[in-house]
Amino acid sequence: MKPCFGYIRVSTQKQGEGVSLEAQKDAITVFANRNGLIVTNWFEEKETAAKSGRPVFNAMLKQLKHGEAQGVIIHKIDRSARNLRDWAMFSELPDAGVSVFVATESLDFNSRGGRLTADIQAVIAADYIRNLREECIKGINGRLKQGLFPWGAPPGYLNQGGGKPKIPCPKTAPLIKLAFELYASRQYSYNALLNDLHRRGLRNTRGGKLTLCGLGNILQNPFYIGLIHIKSSGKTYEGIHEPIVPVATWKLVQVIRTERSGPKSTRHNHLFQGIFRCGQCDKPMVPERQKGHVYYRCKRQACPTKTIREELLEQAIREELGGLELNAKAAVQANNADTPQAIKGLEAQRIALELQIKDEECRLDRLEDLLLDETLGRDAFTRKQGKIKLRLVELRDELLKLPDLEALAAHQEQLAELRKNLVLLYDMANRPEKRMIVENVWPNRTVSVNKIAFKPYSWVTRVDSDPTLLCGAPERDKGRTLIAEENVPSPRKLVKLLEQVIDDELKTA
Ligand SMILES: [Zn+2]
Repeated sequence: MKPCFGYIRVSTQKQGEGVSLEAQKDAITVFANRNGLIVTNWFEEKETAAKSGRPVFNAMLKQLKHGEAQGVIIHKIDRSARNLRDWAMFSELPDAGVSVFVATESLDFNSRGGRLTADIQAVIAADYIRNLREECIKGINGRLKQGLFPWGAPPGYLNQGGGKPKIPCPKTAPLIKLAFELYASRQYSYNALLNDLHRRGLRNTRGGKLTLCGLGNILQNPFYIGLIHIKSSGKTYEGIHEPIVPVATWKLVQVIRTERSGPKSTRHNHLFQGIFRCGQCDKPMVPERQKGHVYYRCKRQACPTKTIREELLEQAIREELGGLELNAKAAVQANNADTPQAIKGLEAQRIALELQIKDEECRLDRLEDLLLDETLGRDAFTRKQGKIKLRLVELRDELLKLPDLEALAAHQEQLAELRKNLVLLYDMANRPEKRMIVENVWPNRTVSVNKIAFKPYSWVTRVDSDPTLLCGAPERDKGRTLIAEENVPSPRKLVKLLEQVIDDELKTA
């Protein structure tokens, strides 16, 4: 019995009947038995056909050259050597004294005629692969031009079969949107975001935990705003699928991502990290987790300020918030965003946007002309085209988002209601938002001995201590605090937050 190696390869694409790993193995074994050969070692390769350079194949060649077997049995030429480089190495083996057998064909590698036949088969196989690839690329490009994504749906979307756009997954699409929002809040590092999303149930396409790299890919993928970007060609296509992330959020995320100076540590682990200071020594109250509770304490050893539990701090915050509301001036300022003038401006805004969209479309046409005239190189074209398409998506998104008047009125009413109730707002907020509220309501937050002290900004006012406010005296509270007017943060920040919270509420309702 002559010792031989068996070489099998299966491409990662779907395999047809009769060429599976087991089927190939069977055919080779039958061939070996019939021809007085014995397979001493199997080499199995799993890879796509068109690429050369296969680790298993190379390892086998090395062992053959060392004389560890006298021959190699392959299943079929087109299967074993699908590119000509591999085949060149195979066809040299007989010269090195190694016999080559093909299980499904009777080819005599010791005769010139047999080797020629085998070479021709290899050439035909290589051409077949090239043709297949070409057809495949044609098909892919056709789909892309129609705005379809010809591969598996990215996280957050569901496949609908070929020829149909991907649709947002009811379960994961909101999580993807949230991922963008959380990252845009600058309160999350990649790791923190990854853990948070995992906890909320976001998984990769195979059901496992998302990797950092996978998260990075999601956060930079313009698919979520309706564009299809092909990395290898640098081209951007307009998808016909429904976007799930607002363009503004997506763009902000890209800015934060490229800043590199993004959040390095996880600040959201402890709700009030860096929020409270010791009233005695002005040192930060440092969080510590003990027996499942988070405690904040002053780091100075002899400090009389007692360690305080997070729950107690939060309770104090809620109690304080309960006694506060936006002062009259701030409320007016906050309401200004949606004044009748703003409503009147809506129509003008709509017209302006439509003009801008037309403009960009014309630019795209002109760009294509330049490409046809060869005034513009392919690279410059794709770069400019990508930019214009992104701008178009942005503009169309803005246009879509222009509120209609009825919705605006209802929205305003709700907003006014919520502005009255800061506690409710606080309870609806997530952790980074809670921190934002606390930081925006009180410039100073101290813990002294046993007392928690808050000093609110002038744009909020105590409900109980300022009855004149109810009568509408607008400037009544001025000078109540020692903060200079220019240092007072604009309530817009809080109001923006309010609007966001309401938007989310409306969507989930
Ligand atoms: Zn202290």
